[in-house]
This record gives sequence, structure tokens and C-alpha cells, in this order.
Amino acid sequence: MYELQDTITAIATPAGVGGIGVIRLSGNKAFEMAQKLLPETKPFEKRRQILFTAFCHPQTGESLDEGLLLIMPAPQSYTTEDVVEFHVHGSPLLLEKIIEVLAGLGARLAHPGEFTYRAFIHGRLDLTQAEAVESLVSAQGDASRRQALRHLTGGLASHLEPMEEFLKSLYLKVEARLEFADDGIPPLDRAKFEEEVAGVRNELQKLLDSYQQGKVLREGLTVALVGPPNVGKSSLLNTLLGTQRAIVTPLAGTTRDVVEGDIRLKGVRVRFFDTAGLRNAENVVEVEGIRRSRQVMEEADLIFWLIDASNPAESLTELETSSLPANRVWYLFNKVDLVTDREPWKKILQLPTEKCLSFSCATQEGLFRVFGAVESFIQTSSGGEDVVITSTRHRQEVEKALAALNNLQTLMETLQPFELWAEELKAAALAIGHIRGKDLPAKAFEDIFNKFCVGK
Ligand code: GDP
Repeated sequence: MYELQDTITAIATPAGVGGIGVIRLSGNKAFEMAQKLLPETKPFEKRRQILFTAFCHPQTGESLDEGLLLIMPAPQSYTTEDVVEFHVHGSPLLLEKIIEVLAGLGARLAHPGEFTYRAFIHGRLDLTQAEAVESLVSAQGDASRRQALRHLTGGLASHLEPMEEFLKSLYLKVEARLEFADDGIPPLDRAKFEEEVAGVRNELQKLLDSYQQGKVLREGLTVALVGPPNVGKSSLLNTLLGTQRAIVTPLAGTTRDVVEGDIRLKGVRVRFFDTAGLRNAENVVEVEGIRRSRQVMEEADLIFWLIDASNPAESLTELETSSLPANRVWYLFNKVDLVTDREPWKKILQLPTEKCLSFSCATQEGLFRVFGAVESFIQTSSGGEDVVITSTRHRQEVEKALAALNNLQTLMETLQPFELWAEELKAAALAIGHIRGKDLPAKAFEDIFNKFCVGK
């Protein structure tokens, strides 16, 4: 896809005015080109160094700026090629001008992610690390930033590499018994073999399960605030966000559309949705609001069902008919300032007590429990320090590997010939290799690196 012979360049800092702006230049002509922007009296040596220098137009001699030139000879650079970085004043016009000059000298504008692509092609990063560069740059919260860094420093790669090697060794065991069946190789120890296959299957299943955790890190968490009108959904949203985002009135049915707002908890972005309530509405606008509420609820990671502690009947009746997915629901008793009982659920009905909590938006009493519920969900779903897969591409490959090993399991149980076993093992090893970027078609790289920003 990308032509590797070209010397490529791009602005590496974000668009707009800034303190400094950085231009990257990578390829075998990088030093020669950079030299042409320096005053003739300043030939630089090709060693790792930082120069403070003037930059001038190579044809007209016009002075462009002064700043730093970072000189990084191959292979000790990001791309492993000769790389030069111009650190100049952060003016978009100036940066464009320098790019124009470099293009005039024969540099090609880099495609999105092309610098990282080169680092990958030249073996400095494997594909999981290259992808982690993009995840790190676009991380939405502290936890996803940490996870991306873990991948960047090889956390996932070092987990996958031995797995791929092990699958290959299993393949060779089977293969040997195919090709050299008569050469005195001892028969396969089937019990041990099955155990080894089961071991890898477990590992793969764990990786697959970790995807859900990865999703929380990558995309954050969504919480739907649901319940009949007037239980305090809007008040809770405002309290959680510390703003007056939603309109609070004593009139039922005020919130007609879904209002949302987000905060950061434990390094994860948490989005709260204040829904319209689910009661039967006659009014068209309210009907639409309720349809949207349903949709938000279906997609939410957590559902907070609000109950007015001073008047729980309505909320509880509605709860019975609402068919909520029980595993995602917490039961929040609001307005405890109006009652004496702090654990009203105990008298009421069979709600799971560990999922019940009480608080008051009016006095702020017990609000820490609401935050606590979200935090504990993040804790259990972000996987702590474990290896976590975060991208759909990784998930698809892990699924392929797992499917192949499941097929293998059936083949083993039904005493099918080794040829078929070998095929499945090959498929599993290939899928794991794909995650690290081995044997992927060029089109796949294009899809991956195209998501990067230019200059990365
Ligand atoms: P929603 O319809 O569920 O969004 O409910 P609102 O947030 O609009 O609140 C309905 C009414 O209950 C408003 O008059 C609020 O001031 C009141 N309210 C909300 N939370 C509390 C609380 O903790 N204690 C008391 N006493 N009133 C509250």
C-alpha cells in the first residue's frame, strides 16, 4: 500500500495555533532535505542531536523561522529510518510553508498513520503495539490510557506470541504423525494433547471475555436513570454532574427527551442519561421520549431505577411491568430526607438488597453510595491490570481461533483423522498471528492505519 521508498512528511501537532508546531520528515532523503532549509554555514553531522538553528527557504534564502532541529539517524528513530523533526513556532501558516518547501524538495505528504506503519513494517512495533499508539493518542480516560500504554509496551504481544508458538507446536505434533507415520515416532499421547488444547482454549476464552472490559475502558460507561415521573431523575442527573443540566419541576412528565451529561470516575468516562420515564403517555412528544428512553436503557451498561422513598408505590408498580434486565439494574431510593427509614427496600418486596441504596438529592445525603455503585462497576469491569483486548479486530481474530479449537475438540472426540486436526490448529495459529500483524493482506493494514491521525 504505502510506498516505502518515499521520504514522507507531515505536521505532527494538532491543527491551530500553538506554542510550538512539529513537522516530521522520515526516509532516506530526510537529512539531505532538512539540510537545505538550514543556512549554508550550518552543515549538520549525521548523529543523534538537537540543533538550535535558523530555517530558510532553500531557493530564495528568505528566513522562515528559528527553532530546534531533532536529528535521529536510522535505526534509532520512531520509524527506524532517518528522521528529522522541525520544532518551530506553532503558526499554522508557518507549518504549511515548511511542508510546502519540503514537498518542493521531493518529500511526499504522509498518509494517516504512515509513520507508525513504517515502524511496524520495519519491525520496531508489532501490530498490537502500533494500534496501541492510536489508542493512547485518543484515550478517553486515565484507565484507557493506562491500558493502551500496556499494549504499547508489548503487554498484549508478549501474551499472544507464546500462545501462537504453542499452537504451532501442537500443529507440528500432529503433522509429524501424518508425514512420518512409519518413521518410528511414538503415537500421540491423546490425553495430554487434549489437555493442552483445553489450556489454550481457556486462555482464548479469557481474552474474549476481556473484550467487554476493554469496551468500558475504550468507550466509557453509560448509566440510564429510569423511573416514573417525579422520582428525581433530573435532580439526580444535575447533582451527579454538579450543574443544572436537566430541568427540574414538580410537574410529572417534564423531561420529554433524553438529557445526558458525563463525568470522569476512576479514569473512565461515565455518561448519565436522564430518561423520560416509561409511563403510558398520551401525548405524541412524550411517546417519542419514552421510545428513546427504552433504547437508552437497552444500550446502557447500568440502569438506575429510581424510587421515591416517600411514595414508593407508583415506582414499584411500574417496575413490575417494565421487564428490565435484572443483572444491570440498581434500585435507588431517592428523597430519604422525607422519611425516617434509611433502608426502605427491606419492608417492600424482593429486591436484591445488595443492589439497593438510598440517598437524597435535596440534602445530598448518601450520594456517595451512588458514586460508589458506579465505581464498583468500573472496578470489576475494567479488568484491573489484566491483559485486555480492546479492539473489534482483535476480538474477531480471537473468536476465529476459538472457533477453530472448538472444532478441533469435536474432531478429537469423534476420533476424526489427524489431517483435519492439523487444519484447525493451523487456522487458530494464523488467527493469533493476525492480531500481531502476521500474514495479513495489505488491505487490512490500510483499514487499520487509515484510522490514525496524519503525522502519527
Ligand atoms: P423527574 O421527573 O424524575 O426527573 O424528577 P425531578 O428531578 O424533576 O424532581 C421532581 C420533584 O421532586 C422536584 O420538585 C424536585 O425538587 C423534587 N425532589 C427531587 N429530589 C428530591 C429529594 O431528594 N428530596 C425531596 N424532598 N425532593 C426532591
